[in-house]
Amino acid sequence: MNRTKIKKHLDEIFSHYIRLKHADEFGKARCWTCDKTAPYHKLYCGHFASRKYLPTRWDERNCRPQCYACNMLRGGEQWNFGKRLNKRSAGIAERVFAEATGGRKWTTTELCNMVSHYREALVREIRRTQRQRAGVTETTIKVAHRHRGLAIFNQNKDREQEVI
Ligand SMILES: [Zn+2]
Repeated sequence: MNRTKIKKHLDEIFSHYIRLKHADEFGKARCWTCDKTAPYHKLYCGHFASRKYLPTRWDERNCRPQCYACNMLRGGEQWNFGKRLNKRSAGIAERVFAEATGGRKWTTTELCNMVSHYREALVREIRRTQRQRAGVTETTIKVAHRHRGLAIFNQNKDREQEVI
């Protein structure tokens, strides 16, 4: 599989993971920058340091759910985004931004490992919210399933089939 395709897989899995990770047990999440709540699947995976910076594009510290208005119409609300990150963890916005622009390159193996890592993390979040009969969508479950076909996931195939 080529790098472009791997990155596409990674974007998809990561986006579902981030939004579900920040959702409550009923699948509801809050926009990081305006506090509006919505089902996680109606929100976007917002980036503090733009997703154009590959070093932090799939970094959990850099990403939170955002509503359409904040993410798309208001350009991601970067200032407010960073301010709120720093409120939770002083100096994190500066550290993340320094890494974002630091020029780190991902090897193909590292990208594959991230796909594997975030896919497992997504499966854990699906389990957590499904326990409450929450609003996990078919799309999210399909995303978790679809990527199981990759060779690197085969070891967990049977176990995960039972769970989701
Ligand atoms: Zn918002």
